[in-house]
Amino acid sequence: MPDPLTPEQRHRCMSHIRSRNTKPELKVRQWLWQHGYHYRLNVGSVPGKPDIVMRRYRTAIFVNGCFWHGHDGCPKFRLPQTNVDFWQTKINRNRERDQRNYQILNKNGWQVIVVWECQLTPALIEQTMRLVELRLNQNFLSIYKPKSKNYTTPSDEPLPMAAESESKYGDS
Ligand SMILES: [Zn+2]
Repeated sequence: MPDPLTPEQRHRCMSHIRSRNTKPELKVRQWLWQHGYHYRLNVGSVPGKPDIVMRRYRTAIFVNGCFWHGHDGCPKFRLPQTNVDFWQTKINRNRERDQRNYQILNKNGWQVIVVWECQLTPALIEQTMRLVELRLNQNFLSIYKPKSKNYTTPSDEPLPMAAESESKYGDS
């Protein structure tokens, strides 16, 4: 989305965001903001209280800590050696609650994107967020379907080369 702010205004806004924002959720917010996306935080009216809500894309983003939300197969997710049962139960409960929330959101027409803490390291954040961006655009397109039944998406048909399109103009 184009940013309505001028570069100067934007720079002034950005200066409020400290580079010390290390919380995973803040990294995602900062990236979205820098790339001109608009969002709301912890909207109570949306089920599951997602971290970030993007109404325009009908998308809820959850930024999950790998330990508390039990990121399967992730090096950051290791159960403590003591009280294993306690932690296992606790993490399982969190996982189940997450899944329930995602399902409720889906039933209400919301798309869910889960971003994991380990995907937001300096080396990975750009790739992660570009994939989030791709998902957002896909979600946007799935909401705003063209009205005409005869519409074909640009990818359905090869785009004509310049020479081909010229000869077609000549035929008609
Ligand atoms: Zn992880």
